[in-house]
Amino acid sequence: MTPSRARHAPRAASVEPSVDAQRRSIRERLALTEWIEVVVIFAVLAFVVSVPLLYSAARGVDVVRPWVIGAVAVLAPLLLLAAWLLSEHFWNVADTLEARRRRTEYDRLVGSQLDLAAWCGPELFDEVVDRAVTRLPAEFIRGLEQRNVAITTADGDPEWPWALGLYQTQGGITKITLFRVNLVRSAGSLDQLEDAVADTLLHEVGHAFGMTEDDLNRYSIGNRPVRGAIPVRRLADPAQGAPGPGEVTPGTG
Ligand SMILES: [Zn+2]
Repeated sequence: MTPSRARHAPRAASVEPSVDAQRRSIRERLALTEWIEVVVIFAVLAFVVSVPLLYSAARGVDVVRPWVIGAVAVLAPLLLLAAWLLSEHFWNVADTLEARRRRTEYDRLVGSQLDLAAWCGPELFDEVVDRAVTRLPAEFIRGLEQRNVAITTADGDPEWPWALGLYQTQGGITKITLFRVNLVRSAGSLDQLEDAVADTLLHEVGHAFGMTEDDLNRYSIGNRPVRGAIPVRRLADPAQGAPGPGEVTPGTG
């Protein structure tokens, strides 16, 4: 019943939601175009269009005539444009299907599981998160402030149905979001929840400091920690001994 440990979305999360694809500028669209796809569609279109010529050529007709060359010169760019538009269309369709799949996953993981997370409602969850934030080492807090990173909570995010947390930059705002339902469901008790929130927070803070998933996987807070990953000590109260500042050093991964 423990959801995927995926805590976060890679930097792709920083990209605007794919549902906005239709509203992209031509330049953005070109940058995102899958040119191999365009070439394949172009080849198929060109083949279909040239069937009469190929047929004629097979019957021994000399098809290399000026009008044929002219037609090819006019048709080729049109076919290329058609191929590009078709690939755009497929791309949008794929995006729509992906968004629908995520929505379904979200409904399954989060929407229908609200009851299971009811023992820790939004207010209590916020308190847990606040505690985890105040237990961060002071230099982490300073680093987050310098980078102007906000820390927020939410029940979940349909874009990232399985995520426990998310680090993202969107519309000029950089924030870490901790998702209540998946985190609460992953924990069986308040103590476990405190740990899960602390781990997830540290993971996202790592991203805020420029660490990649690979960097994070070298620590126990990675989504897929490598064998022998360095354990990151629980964010203990300073009174119980502060976590070693060297445990998760920003930038060094
Ligand atoms: Zn991550």
